[in-house]
Formats: sequence, C-alpha cells, structure tokens
Amino acid sequence: MADAMLQGSCLCKAVRYEISPPFIRFTHCYCMRCRKATGGVKSSNISVPPEQFRWISGEDVVSRWDMPEARAFAIAVCTKCNCPVPRPTRDRQRMTVPAGSLDDEPGEQPSAHRYWNSRAGWAATDESHLPYED
Ligand SMILES: [Zn+2]
Ligand SMILES: [Zn+2]
Repeated sequence: MADAMLQGSCLCKAVRYEISPPFIRFTHCYCMRCRKATGGVKSSNISVPPEQFRWISGEDVVSRWDMPEARAFAIAVCTKCNCPVPRPTRDRQRMTVPAGSLDDEPGEQPSAHRYWNSRAGWAATDESHLPYED
C-alpha cells in the first residue's frame, strides 16, 4: 500500500506529512470562518482517520489556534511560512488536511459544497465563463 501514500507540505517545506486514502470526506466549505482563515472564497479540506496520517517533519513548528466560541473550528499553520497545515480535530478522531497543501493529486474530487447558504456574493461553482490565464 506504500504507493497509495499521498505527500503534502507547506510552502517552505518545513512541514511535511503523508496521508493515505480512503478519505472520510473531501469537501469545500464556504462559511465565513473558512473565508477568514484562508483569505479565499472557500476552504477545501480532506478528513482522514488519525491512523491514515503521518508527520514526516515539522510537527514542532506548527502553531494552532482554536476559535474559543466555536465548537470545533481551528487553524493550524507553519510558523515559518504561515501556510495552513494539517491539524487534528479537538476530539482527535480525525485529521483535517488542507487539500491545497497536498503535493500529490488526491485521486478523488470534492463531494460537497458545505455552508453554501453562507457563501460570499462572489462565490460561484461555475466560473467557466472567466478567461483562463497562466
Ligand atoms: Zn512552512
Ligand atoms: Zn467553513
């Protein structure tokens, strides 16, 4: 099963990890918290059981913030480059992995748009009318 491992990292490569499928879920989230946390229109996160996650390096440079008034919301970043990195849920039953931090293709597509009713006015699922630029 070694070839099924997917590797991920932050921009500065201090934090490196690997995960293996299958995923518990892989979804986009359009809530306001995710907009603030990512600076973008949505977050795209993969959940895996802790047994399917392994730190390769940099766990010691991860900084975590748990939103006090939230039941579960948390942010974890690399303290060297400030990129989002994986974090355990508060109950430690899952690892939440920012899909954009993967270096390998996840091999699955997201299965849902969560908190769609909380989306920003500029959120759109179909942006194929926009020009594609490199
Ligand atoms: Zn980094
Ligand atoms: Zn969200």
